[in-house]
Amino acid sequence: MTVLETTDLTKSFGGLTAVDHLDLTVEENEIVGLIGPNGSGKTTTFNLVTGFYSIDGGTVRLTGSDITSFGTAKRASHGIVRTFQRPKPFGTMTVRENMMVANTPDLSRVEKESRAERILDDIELDHEADSRGKDLSGGQKKLLEIGRALMLDPEIILLDEPAAGVNPALMDDIMDYIRDLHDDGHTFLLIEHDMSIIADLCDRVVVMHNGQKIADGPFEEVRDNEQVRSAYLGG
Ligand code: ADP
Repeated sequence: MTVLETTDLTKSFGGLTAVDHLDLTVEENEIVGLIGPNGSGKTTTFNLVTGFYSIDGGTVRLTGSDITSFGTAKRASHGIVRTFQRPKPFGTMTVRENMMVANTPDLSRVEKESRAERILDDIELDHEADSRGKDLSGGQKKLLEIGRALMLDPEIILLDEPAAGVNPALMDDIMDYIRDLHDDGHTFLLIEHDMSIIADLCDRVVVMHNGQKIADGPFEEVRDNEQVRSAYLGG
């Protein structure tokens, strides 16, 4: 099943077409890496898919339904969630309280609390449940963000640079956790500059350049593509 599908997705800022007729698919239980040089349109694509930016043209579908006209909250409740490159947990709230902020109308209070406890246990933040958000390390904040995203039982999780600003030891934990979630059937689209992480995690990569998709396939294939090489060299 195709979880996420964009067709002809387009966004311009003034005269600059940041995303240019992008066709992108993510299948169920895939980890797809969205890569490309700086300014190629990756972040804008995330913002269009999640509804943070309005779309100039094209469609976004989630598990077959057209969600193009939905706002951010409605997209999130339908199952598109994202994390940010620089996580901003609610600093004065505890880790547990941060988890409980998620909008889960289908769960009772008890169900919600037990989901939060299970996820905190999985991400090994159970011992920090009563710590304040602002007192976590950079990597722990990233884990908390993924945890908060999981509270919504999403169809797809968009990860914006999960490795940026994380110390190497905790990075291994984050990678292991993403792998565990993948084994459990979760689906991811991720932006990441660290190609060793892309090679390690991703089933497939989509390469963008000047807002367009220039390659789509397994990392080992795409890496040797001439257009991709020249894009990274500024050609
Ligand atoms: P990437 O994430 O691949 O580095 P971006 O999606 O951030 O690329 O940016 C693509 C292009 O769109 C860049 O030229 C960037 O300057 C431009 N851009 C992104 N967001 C905005 C915005 N809010 N206003 C104006 N230009 C923007």
